[in-house]
Amino acid sequence: MAAASGRWGAGLAALVAALSVAEPTASSQDIPLRCRDLLAANQGVTKRTDRVAELGEELDLKHWKKLSPQYTDEALVATFRAAITEAEARAAAITGLTHAGLRRLAFDRSKSLLVEHLKVEPLPVEGVRDEIVRRVSAVVLLTTGEYVDVMVAKGRAEGSTASTVTLQARAYRQYMASCGRNGLSPNAFYDEAANVGVGNSGMRFAVVCPGLVLEAHDYGISRQDLLDALSFTLGHELGHAIDDSAYPELYGSMAECYRRITEFPAIWDPGLADEISADHWGAVVLAETLRTRTGGAPPPEHVAKVIAYATRRLEPDEIDDGSKPKVHAPTPFRINQTIARLPAINELLGCPQNGPHNPGCTRQGIVPAER
Ligand SMILES: [Zn+2]
Repeated sequence: MAAASGRWGAGLAALVAALSVAEPTASSQDIPLRCRDLLAANQGVTKRTDRVAELGEELDLKHWKKLSPQYTDEALVATFRAAITEAEARAAAITGLTHAGLRRLAFDRSKSLLVEHLKVEPLPVEGVRDEIVRRVSAVVLLTTGEYVDVMVAKGRAEGSTASTVTLQARAYRQYMASCGRNGLSPNAFYDEAANVGVGNSGMRFAVVCPGLVLEAHDYGISRQDLLDALSFTLGHELGHAIDDSAYPELYGSMAECYRRITEFPAIWDPGLADEISADHWGAVVLAETLRTRTGGAPPPEHVAKVIAYATRRLEPDEIDDGSKPKVHAPTPFRINQTIARLPAINELLGCPQNGPHNPGCTRQGIVPAER
């Protein structure tokens, strides 16, 4: 929705300005400085290789440069399919992580950690617990090919009479909006399709662009760090199944807290609220992933490093969801507020718990709670 995104855009610009003031003010997100400067850690990590750019250039030459300017839907679909199939295979060979491996080692783990958390987390309205657990449990991770098939089925379920190849071309274009034409954007997205799947009961799904894993690998990090860093993005995408649009009643206290401590009423406007609520679940999953790491939680400086890798690729205007609002909170807010001030992360970082001068916002409201 263009009108709404203009409003978030303006709101974001003001929020970015408020976050980048040199003078400490009430709207700064890092007063007083926490015991670990996560934003500096985030800006301090550097790539050791640039396989994303190299592979992208290669795929452009091999596939896209050969597509005629007067291309048909058939030719477009064939080019997308060839380029992305190759991107997936090459990224898997370079990173040692296939789609099946990603699903088993990272996605399924993130989902079960979130589901276990939702089963016991205090909720303002008890009646929705079974439903939110069911919704998150139902989210599946699709390959690009499966995503295209689901979108074709969705088109049919909506009564489209377009040819299959036209619906496939439409699906690939939508995929491209998040993942790029070769699937190499460091991104992922969540979407839903009504009236498809088993018994036409509808589907909730996440898609991870092969570029998300390949780009993380470019930083030269260990496999364990890579998998754990991905849990933030996977938790974020799973969180969209229960975000602010889906369950506004879950986030009333969080909304009020963020509006107050940022002194920025538009912080919880539609769109941005969905992204911040999804980030909250991403942070919850990241904390649980690190806390339950085989061999025990890593030391605080290592936790800071994983957070830096998990957030390195976040930009304020990053495109995220295919059909949902496309604006994230600015990176400093995501790191210093949503992630760093989550009490579970604070603990992993070995930092003092939130105090009156560095309050955090959880779904239960401001931390520390006021009396
Ligand atoms: Zn999102």
